[in-house]
Amino acid sequence: MPSVGPGVTAVPSVFVVLYCLFQAPMWCCAPTGASQFCRNNANGILLGCHLRQHKFEKLKLAVRQRAWRKAAAAVFKSVGGQAATFSAFAGMVSAGAATVTLAVK
Ligand SMILES: [Zn+2]
Repeated sequence: MPSVGPGVTAVPSVFVVLYCLFQAPMWCCAPTGASQFCRNNANGILLGCHLRQHKFEKLKLAVRQRAWRKAAAAVFKSVGGQAATFSAFAGMVSAGAATVTLAVK
């Protein structure tokens, strides 16, 4: 395998993160009650289901930091959420590592 620079490895990592945030199949997870979450199919951690209100709810969630842990827990419980959250995290880590490698060089 030919050696590739850290800049090259950062590109797919960024795509993985973007995929998980906007495309990966999972539940909507917008809050619908005290401790209820929407279970409609949705794509991506940041986007809600077909209900426009839920997209708005998730944007509000992203802005309100205190809700992050609750939302993260809900996303993590959803069917595709675990894999997507993990890949997003792994992608961020490898993108960060590539950036650091670039910076150190
Ligand atoms: Zn929804």
